Amino acid sequence: MMTGTAHLFIPGPTNVPADIQRAMIVPMQDHRAPEFAEILQPVLAGLKPVFGTSEAQIALLPGSGTAAWEAAITNTLSPGDKVLMARHGQFSALWADMALAMGLKVEIIDVAWGAPCPVREVERRLGADRHGEIKAVFVTHNETATGVTSDVAGIRHALDASFHDALLFVDGVSSIGSIPFEMDAWGVDMAIAGSQKGLMCPAGLGIIAASPRALAAMDTSTMARSFLDLRAMLAAHQAGSFCFTPPAQLLHGLRAALTRLQTEGLANVFARHQRLAEGIRAGVAAMGLKMVAEHQIFASDTVTAIRTPQGIDARDVIAIARNRYNTHFGGGLGPLAGKAFRIGHLGDLNEGMCLTALGIAELSLKAAGAPVVLGAGVTAAQHVYAGVAQAPALSIAAE
Ligand SMILES: *Cc1c(COP(=O)(O)O)cnc(C)c1O
Repeated sequence: MMTGTAHLFIPGPTNVPADIQRAMIVPMQDHRAPEFAEILQPVLAGLKPVFGTSEAQIALLPGSGTAAWEAAITNTLSPGDKVLMARHGQFSALWADMALAMGLKVEIIDVAWGAPCPVREVERRLGADRHGEIKAVFVTHNETATGVTSDVAGIRHALDASFHDALLFVDGVSSIGSIPFEMDAWGVDMAIAGSQKGLMCPAGLGIIAASPRALAAMDTSTMARSFLDLRAMLAAHQAGSFCFTPPAQLLHGLRAALTRLQTEGLANVFARHQRLAEGIRAGVAAMGLKMVAEHQIFASDTVTAIRTPQGIDARDVIAIARNRYNTHFGGGLGPLAGKAFRIGHLGDLNEGMCLTALGIAELSLKAAGAPVVLGAGVTAAQHVYAGVAQAPALSIAAE
């Protein structure tokens, strides 16, 4: 039997704070009654600053981030359209697979898992697309599989510099609400999130924001869509409801989550994620381990993927953490299975939780046979959180 608190350090679902949990305990309500708009409208309005938009329209889709991926495609594109995207982790790979399955031509830029979306190569491909065959560029803002954040503003610049009018779709499932996201400033046409990561709610809602250009593209798109028809949903939202029965409890939760983000202040939320992530990264380095992210510059502030040393199966580390320490880390996905584990550090999180994550990672790595010095990672993170430089390398004789 497991005692004490289970520690959830997966990059989604994330911890749901008690006030959000309580906000969801509400009686069933009539979603066709005028009062339903009183819960829906503040949620739609409150999401806009989190997405960095005043121009876009937001639709809530029962489902998850994956549903929003699909809605972005089926509502704006047509079979045979070409899209351009980098494949550099499990989530960009899955989105590419979906695009293929929906009948799109997918021009893929394969780069190392650990690298960001290559802005220059995107610019080169756009420049070479003389006949404007590329209808959309897909960017995975934060590759949750590798812990890499890509430069969406750079991709916008690449589009502008090549005078290309492709739409820009961005998967912000593990970034929106945790790190800066500027939909309007970056000229993003479809921005995608889910309820269960930075927004600290249970899974169950895909959230999609559509720019005026994306809305216009819906008039000419010929792809089949029905359940995820965004125009129908946006019209229903305008009228204060959904096309079908909404997950009302989640809307109550989301409203409470947005209140939390507003109360903390988005700038403070972003700064907190950055500070906490810096501690995690310092800890990983002090343990002598490498991140999957090839460089600190684009290491994610919401999730860190950590390579286990040669000969140490990351699955063992994860199993030890779970079975002995009631602690959940994310696994290595796809080709990273067994080679890496992930610490999710997004949502409702503080320094103590990050120190716990590092401390349990050290114990689990050691038990799996990795040569880590117990406490080295925790100490390094403490120095970051204390705002003081790391002391010269400790030699822990008691090892
Ligand atoms: C979690 C995640 C998804 C998938 O979202 P679901 O809500 O599980 O469907 C897509 N993209 C990224 C970057 C993610 O982190």
